[in-house]
Amino acid sequence: MKNIAVIGAGTMGNGIAHSFAQNGYKVQLVDLNEKVLENALQTISNNLDRMIKKGVISEEDKQHTLSNISIFTNISEGVEYASLVVEAATENEALKLDIFKTLDDACPEDTILATNTSSISITQIAAATSRPSQVIGMHFMNPVPIMPLVEVINGYNTSTEVTDFIVELTKFIGKTPVLANDYPGFIANRILMPMINEAIEALQTGVSGVQEIDTIMKLGMAHPMGPLELADFIGLDVCHSILEVMHAGFKTPKYAPNPLLVNMVRAGKLGKKTGEGFYDYSNDKKATVPAAQFH
Ligand code: NAD
Repeated sequence: MKNIAVIGAGTMGNGIAHSFAQNGYKVQLVDLNEKVLENALQTISNNLDRMIKKGVISEEDKQHTLSNISIFTNISEGVEYASLVVEAATENEALKLDIFKTLDDACPEDTILATNTSSISITQIAAATSRPSQVIGMHFMNPVPIMPLVEVINGYNTSTEVTDFIVELTKFIGKTPVLANDYPGFIANRILMPMINEAIEALQTGVSGVQEIDTIMKLGMAHPMGPLELADFIGLDVCHSILEVMHAGFKTPKYAPNPLLVNMVRAGKLGKKTGEGFYDYSNDKKATVPAAQFH
């Protein structure tokens, strides 16, 4: 395997491209326009500079990694020679089904199609193709170049050969694969999202303020980031979409997104990527929702 195409060059796509390119693969990075792709290359370059400063890689490694990445705005051209495609486009089921139909038509017959979806059914995505045994979930964590985990999700029809291959590839790029079956939210988000939603519920019902809730989880539970800060980091729209998928999939109010989260997404306060979520990132990272009044 030489060529790996990555569809979507946003938060996750650029990190996935970085990780494969750094491990010697030729990566074809695809997004809707040149501007997003140029920003992605700049982000990868900045992240490689940070690794040079830490002494993890050399300037030569950086140039080699960058030279392994080429950019495309047309999916069919980008995947023409791909042995593996990792889709990391926006978390939207209709969009992903459409992309997988296109991939199925454009890719060589034996290409494996992986999705980085956080919650959408792998089996459903696989059903949009004529090769469901070659479709699998490859759920990287954010930020990809640093986080060592990949949740590998088997769809109903994923073949053992494809699972074994993705497990070995994950190890080869220095990450640890963990297997999960195809149920809404898989493992990571099945556990993480209810915690984030509960933290928002505690804020919305006045139990305490943003900083207090995050401090409790950081100092009390040894989490490196509080749940509200983590929600900002992931993107509140992404958290909202994942909760909606789990809510619809399990048909229980347990996973219904809290109304404060819904309002913040409607208001365009999506967290770090828009400069404001539970914290204001332009202003010394101050909490935006006032602390509860204590009695
Ligand atoms: P993002 O919004 O940062 O990036 C998505 C990119 O997809 C955008 O650049 C957009 O232009 C592109 N895109 C949309 N339609 C496209 C198409 N038809 N063809 C090519 N590109 C297209 O989103 P993200 O946070 O990188 O999330 C991407 C995927 O990764 C989602 O499925 C998400 O659930 C998953 N994920 C996200 C995180 C996280 O922390 N953000 C963690 C793990 C998994």
